[in-house]
Amino acid sequence: MRQLVCPACGATNRAPQDRNALAAKCGRCGERLFSGVPAEVSGAQLAAHTSKTRGVAVLVDVWAPWCGPCRSMAPQFAAAAARLEPDVRLLKLNSEAEPRAAGALGVSGVPALLLYRDGAVIARSAGLMSAAQIVAWTHQALAQVSA
Ligand code: ZN
Repeated sequence: MRQLVCPACGATNRAPQDRNALAAKCGRCGERLFSGVPAEVSGAQLAAHTSKTRGVAVLVDVWAPWCGPCRSMAPQFAAAAARLEPDVRLLKLNSEAEPRAAGALGVSGVPALLLYRDGAVIARSAGLMSAAQIVAWTHQALAQVSA
């Protein structure tokens, strides 16, 4: 089973292990657990997602509104979500709104990507990437920890 946090209400849910997870809805609020687009989260919400998600990797895009490369990467990150869900949950953390959370992640420059599995950071990357690069980087990082 996959265990994941509802982006809409924060409830912890279980979802099927196969592709049917894409259609799964939150048991509390009824929203889809995967919407096909990255979810914008606060620092507290990010901590809940990374600590409670199991069987699904969590990919976080740390960005800032003033950052041109971040704005360029936003549609690329969104396109990657459509290809990585339901094996990966994609989240966005605004480092300008959540500077303490971004600092706690050890992020000094944006855009930055952090990939979590079962509560631990397994890979990080800095700088602009295309959707294809994000998908390939994520698959490679997950393959390395599975090997
Ligand atoms: Zn919900």
